[in-house]
This record gives sequence, structure tokens and C-alpha cells, in this order.
Amino acid sequence: MTGTILLVDGTAPYRRVVATRLQEHGFEVVEAETAAAAAASLRSCAFDLVVVDNLLEDGDGSSLLLQFASESRKSILVVEPSFAISAPDVFCAERKIARLCRGPMPPSALVDVALEVLGAGPPAVLPARCVSSALPEPAARSGSSVPPSIGEIRRAYGRNLPVELAAIRAAVESARNAGMEEDCDDRARDVERRSHTIYGTAGTVGFPRTAEYARQINALAKTLHSPVRFDAPEWARLLALITSAESVSETTTLTPSDPLDGTSLAYILFVNFSPMAPEETRELARVSFVRTIVASSRDEALLKASGTALHGVVISLDGTDGDAPFELAAELRGLEGQGDLGVAFMSQDSSVKNRVAAASAGATKFLRRPVDATEYGEMARSFYLARQRRAPRVLIVDDDNLFRAHMTAMLTAEGMEVTGIERPDEVLERLDSLRPDLMLLDVQMPDISGWDVCRMVRQVPRWQHLPILFLTAASTPEARIACFASGGDDYIQKPCIKEELTARIGLRLERIRLFNERADRDLLTSLFNRRAFLDQFQLRMADSRRYARPLSLCILDLDHFKFINDTFGHLAGDRVLTAMGRLLATRFREVDIRCRWGGEEFAVAFYGEEASTAKMIMGRVLSCFRELTFKGDRGNEFHVTFSAGIACHPADGQDFENLYRAADRRLYKAKDLGRNQIIST
Ligand code: GH3
Ligand code: MG
Ligand code: MG
Repeated sequence: MTGTILLVDGTAPYRRVVATRLQEHGFEVVEAETAAAAAASLRSCAFDLVVVDNLLEDGDGSSLLLQFASESRKSILVVEPSFAISAPDVFCAERKIARLCRGPMPPSALVDVALEVLGAGPPAVLPARCVSSALPEPAARSGSSVPPSIGEIRRAYGRNLPVELAAIRAAVESARNAGMEEDCDDRARDVERRSHTIYGTAGTVGFPRTAEYARQINALAKTLHSPVRFDAPEWARLLALITSAESVSETTTLTPSDPLDGTSLAYILFVNFSPMAPEETRELARVSFVRTIVASSRDEALLKASGTALHGVVISLDGTDGDAPFELAAELRGLEGQGDLGVAFMSQDSSVKNRVAAASAGATKFLRRPVDATEYGEMARSFYLARQRRAPRVLIVDDDNLFRAHMTAMLTAEGMEVTGIERPDEVLERLDSLRPDLMLLDVQMPDISGWDVCRMVRQVPRWQHLPILFLTAASTPEARIACFASGGDDYIQKPCIKEELTARIGLRLERIRLFNERADRDLLTSLFNRRAFLDQFQLRMADSRRYARPLSLCILDLDHFKFINDTFGHLAGDRVLTAMGRLLATRFREVDIRCRWGGEEFAVAFYGEEASTAKMIMGRVLSCFRELTFKGDRGNEFHVTFSAGIACHPADGQDFENLYRAADRRLYKAKDLGRNQIIST
């Protein structure tokens, strides 16, 4: 993981600890003690993340973030416990705050949050991606999730620069073409904002001349005072500067001629049922870090999707009738290994009806047509990040510094995130802060043996299943037996051969991943089981409270299922449950959690949705479900319906128990009123 972090905190020792830990994770950290120092850093350099304490000697962190909110980066703000915020959503959006934390935060907790926000640890809203199925890397060079190199980032950015400049040009041109009466304040602000972003990033990534032009554009745009007139002479001067920036050779000569080289980032399937407009094809071609695969029919889309490791799919609603695009999304997600495929819909008609239909078909994005290259690029990037599996974390405990460094280098090159520690008495503490997926343990260490460490770790329930591999120079049968007797999973003979080491570690990591995955899943439907659902629900609930967002809970129960079993056979009943599982698995966004609650009952949680929206979404699921035709044991056909109750946090309850009770009450009301319906009030 690489990236630059600005850490703003007035307490030097605390800051040092946090900075050191972040550096251990591979980040470059710039420290600032005061708001003034932080502002100076923000002006001179682009950061991926700003972590700021609200209480600073010379000002408050939230104002600092507001001042620099136009930059393209994320922030974490730590506020004092009594800090009151009336509309957290707006507050965070205005300041680009990805996470708002209540202080005081222990250093390790703050580091964890930073890693999450940067996508280096389990994400904040989505669960750890241990449940996603394996996805081969599209850039088939290394085969592992090694972060892109500086060169790759630079090339990708260089190829995207023309798009950014074109957006500025478009704003200027639209201002000049505006009518007599119209003022052009918005366009001027747009130019100012976009040029500011380019200035910050281009300079950092290695395009100093472009950055300089962006600075001049930005300065000129700032001189335009409201109301800005369409015939202001500055517009023409801005155009001249943009042309200069566009013609700087650094943006063009760096563009590799082959767009399919290994630096392509995201693979997106674009399904368009009518011929593509040439302008749109051109627009898409500009987003050069995306490889767009076009399909113009359902069959072509399915064919292309099964042969490619996709990051996402965009399906057009134009030129088709009815549910075909939504059905296709579900079908694509039903393909092997594509269960968490990112889905977006696009249409010229962005009415509420279309947006609701898209959301209920599992879309996380809705794009308006004609496609805008920047918006399309952002969508591709978010799909790409969402499908990146987190690098496995490995903890090495060995008193030999050189050996540890060597192992760290070797495993890091294999895409693992490695932490080495020298002292075995730190193991328990470090396990809690690092939460590794696997531990490598030296046997001979001063004071305490690896076997004792292993026994100690196994006594902690949380680490009972952690894969532990011993590294040992001893080769006697007794020593090997002691490795297993103390609770180890395997041992590796020193000196270590790289191939053996990575093969054994890889095997253990895969086993534990499958183990975790199975333990969370219901066998018949492959949905989460109740325990996993409740875990996830608690996380969403915490977010829902923190950001004052609604969280809806839907409990649904199949109608007359005993009758179905009795009439058509238990196996047919099982097929109905499986079909329901598949419908729930393919119809929702990743943030919506779904589970088999037990028997013929299911639960779905919608983060960020009110009960009324959840009801509309479930309504579509119900109409789809009752259309399905099932076959009984004797070949006789039948249909099934369900009833559901929905309750929403915070209106209907503050905790899971109360929400469940409210939803269950409504479910029974739906049964009483004749079944085959959803009740949300
Ligand atoms: P209602 O509309 O009021 O919900 O009626 P119902 O018949 O669905 O409700 P009831 O709770 O009486 O029956 C639930 C049935 O679901 C009984 C049970 O045998 C069946 N069931 C539970 N789990 C499974 C399963 O895994 N497979 C099959 N085939 N049936 C199951
Ligand atoms: Mg029941
Ligand atoms: Mg039932």
C-alpha cells in the first residue's frame, strides 16, 4: 500500500506513534502540529488522506477541512466527545470527511480507521471481503494484488489528464455561449475547482508544467467576481491557457500507444441495446484507465462476461422495454464468481421510477446519458476498488532481524502485508492491533519458545483458528511433533525455500478463507446465516447512528410453505428456498445484507434507505418471485408468494430487538390481510 497522509495533531508523542504505525504500513506521512502548518502543507502538496484532530492550538480541524474541501482526497476528523453536529451527513459531505470519530482515540484504533478509509483494511461499511469469491486479476502480469507502481499511477493519470482539461474547456465554452442575461458564476467556480485539483495532483504525480498551467488557470478564474458575465475577457484568456496546458508534451508523450497494456485498471462491460452514438464512443475512449467491453444483446453480454474478469457492468435502459436490463443484471451476477459484480444502469430518463428500479436491481450507480467521461471514470474506479481483495496479513515472530527482514521482503513481493516482531511477549498485543490472517513463529527464541507462544495464543478464543506455521531449524521428529502438540498447523524447515514457503502459506490462507466463508453461510441458499447477519447488522447500525442515516430491516416469510412441502414434496420446497436465496443474492447492492433467518424466513437490511423505499424494492422482488414457476415431485407446476414486514431505524426502534419486533408485527399483519404483500407502517 502506498499513499501520502497528512497527520494533524497538537500532541507530539501521540502523533509520533500514529505516524510510525502508518509508515510501517508503507505510507508516507507528513506531520503538522498546528492548523497553520497543516494549511501550508495542504497548499503545497496533494494528499490521499488527511487525519486531523479538531482541537488545535490555533484553530479547529473542521474549519481547516472546509477550507481545503475542493481537493480530491479523503479526511478523517477526530472530534471531542461533546462536539455537537446537527446534520452529520451535510457536515461530512461539505468537508469531504470519510470518517468522523469521537476522541480520544487510541493510536491503534486511529490507524485502523485510516487503513479502512484508504482501502488497506476492512472497509467501513462493507464487511471484510473474505466472503467474495476469487477473482483473477485483469492485469494478468503479477497475478497478485500488488499495488500499482508509481510509474503505473503516473501513466494512468497522464492518460486521464486530457479528460480533465477537456472538462475545464467545456465549462469555459459553455460560459461563452451563455445568453445575455445569464450569469456564469457556476461555470467560473467549476473551472476554479477543477484547475485546483489538477494543480495539486499533477505536481505531485510528476507533471510540473501542466501543474503550472493549472495554477495560472486557477488564479485567473479566481479573479472573476460575481456576477460573472458571459462576455468577460477572461474567458478567452482561460481558453488560451487551457490550450497551452493541452499541448504540453508531458500529457501526450507519456501515453502508451497500446491501450491494452498492463496499466489498464478497470474492466467494465457496457451493455447497450441500441447502436452507440459516435460521440459516446469517443467519450468512453477518453477514459483510458478503463477497458470498456461493449455488448449489444443479452447473449453477447453473458458470453463476454463469462470470459472476462470484470469489475463492473453498465447496462443501458434506453432502447428496451420492461425488465430486460434488470433481468440481465441478475443473470450476470448469477455467473460463477460474479456474485459481487458492480452494477450500474444508465438512461436518458433519470426519473425516480427508473432510479428505484435500478436500485432494487442491485445498482450502486445510475448514470445519466449522454455519458460523461469523468463520471464514468469515477464509477469504474469505485467498482475496481470494491472488487480488490484485501492483501492477506502475515505476522512474523522471530528474534533474528536479518531473517525477519528477508522473509518480509519475500512475502511482500507475493502481495502479502507483512509485519515482523522481535519479541514474543508482544505477540498478544500485536495480534489484537494487526488482526493477521496467519502467523509465522520461530521456535528458538530467548526466554520463551515458539511452542509456548503458540500454546498461549491458542488459549485466546479469538485466535483458536488462526493458522500458525512454525519456522524451525531443528529437524528431529520430536521437534516436529512438538510443533503440532503446541497447537501449530504446520512447520517449515529453515533455511526456507521460497517456493515451499509461499505454497504452504498460500494453502493455509485459502483454507482459512473458505472456513470463514462457510461458517458464515447457509448451505441451502448460500446467503449469510443468522449469526453473520447479526454481526453485519450491528456494524451498519453503528454507521446508521454515527451518520444519522436510516437503516431498514425487512423480515419475510414464504406463504403456506407447509402446504407446499406437503403437496409438492420437501425437495421441491428446497428448490423454492434456493430460488429465493438466488433472487436475494443477485437483486441487491453490496451494502444491503441478506440472510436466511431460519426455516422459510429471510431477512434483508437496507442501509441508508427509509421504510418506504425498502418497500418499493421488496415489492419488485415479490413480483419477480411470484412469477417463478416451480415443478413439484410429480411434475406439477406451482407458484409461491411471500409476506414481509419492514421497520426502520430510528423511527421504529433504536436496537435490533425492537426493530425485529416491529418488523415481525407487520409481517403478521401482512399474513392476516391475506398474504402476498409487504407492510411497512
Ligand atoms: P404461513 O403462510 O402462515 O407462513 O404458513 P406456513 O405454512 O409457511 O408456515 P409454517 O410456519 O406453519 O410452516 C413452515 C414450513 O416450512 C414448515 C417447515 O417444514 C418448512 N421448512 C422449514 N425449513 C425448511 C427447509 O429447509 N426445507 C423445506 N423444504 N421446508 C422447510
Ligand atoms: Mg414461518
Ligand atoms: Mg411461512
